[in-house]
Amino acid sequence: MQNKRSPVIFVGHGSPMNAIEKNPFTEKWEALGRELPRPEAILCVSAHWYTDGSRTTDAEAPRMIYDMYGFPDPLYRIVYNAPGSPHFARLTADLISDEVQIDNRWGFDHGTWSVLCRMLPAADIPVFQLSVDRRADAQTIFRIGQELRPLRKEGVLILGSGNVVHNLARINWDMEGGYPWAEEFDSYIKTSILAGDFDNVVHYERAGESSRLAFYTPDHFAPLLYALGAVEAEDSVSVFNDDCVMGSMSMTGYLFQ
Ligand code: ZN
Repeated sequence: MQNKRSPVIFVGHGSPMNAIEKNPFTEKWEALGRELPRPEAILCVSAHWYTDGSRTTDAEAPRMIYDMYGFPDPLYRIVYNAPGSPHFARLTADLISDEVQIDNRWGFDHGTWSVLCRMLPAADIPVFQLSVDRRADAQTIFRIGQELRPLRKEGVLILGSGNVVHNLARINWDMEGGYPWAEEFDSYIKTSILAGDFDNVVHYERAGESSRLAFYTPDHFAPLLYALGAVEAEDSVSVFNDDCVMGSMSMTGYLFQ
């Protein structure tokens, strides 16, 4: 039990290659891992566990999920050996007012391990996942995030892993920055978060045309809404990895503490 709340982080995880590449984004993840207070456990809400209803993993030793295709072999040999946290997983299921299914067919997907193998390479802090509920609308997801707040007082770091802008249909692997609409939506979200106006994030369609191009399915955006729900009024925010890449992907991350 800690007196201080653990932070909330949203990471734009981007390509699975970030698990092994050295670039400014992964360098920042590594720096964050060195700077942050050591949590009791980490709850990761990954874009890549997108299920009907909410699910969590309460295994002692969660399995690795290699949920990406056509990448180089070394990515499929990464093992993130962190233990699970049955205690905090069950507490999470209790805190959420909707039914939460325990599902240990899942474990650590690349939304989790590609970030954590850089941020906390020692893998000695318990980690468990909560799925993104595909049936829930943005308001409901934000409310679930609010229900996660008590975990922070118990020393659980809440990590949302997705991307604010994530449109694979429009990706351009050779492009350095983002398309104007990608930059515009990323900037709309950033301005809203920095102003503490989370309602504008929940109602992201207020951004106009750019919100219709930012993503076609909300799986990568939703982890941001879970994270924002867990933020308390006293938290301050900092922005990191503030960039769009490959035309239609934002790497922007947020730290609340
Ligand atoms: Zn992803």
